[in-house]
Amino acid sequence: MPEEFVVEHDGARCMDQRGDGACVALDPITKLCTIYEIRPQTCRDFTRGESLCRKVLGKPSS
Ligand code: SF4
Repeated sequence: MPEEFVVEHDGARCMDQRGDGACVALDPITKLCTIYEIRPQTCRDFTRGESLCRKVLGKPSS
């Protein structure tokens, strides 16, 4: 994990965010992860479009 992408909050290491809240590893043009092959386990476990994802985006569950 590139250290320049990581911040620490209350002792926990996290991906840093841009001003708009997007992950710093997300390419704002392509909308693709620039570190996909080495992305954190949390990202690997997260399923795009799952209920929590849709809730955060304000979309109804399907
Ligand atoms: S997969 Fe993870 S590391 Fe990659 S852009 Fe999304 S939140 Fe960031």
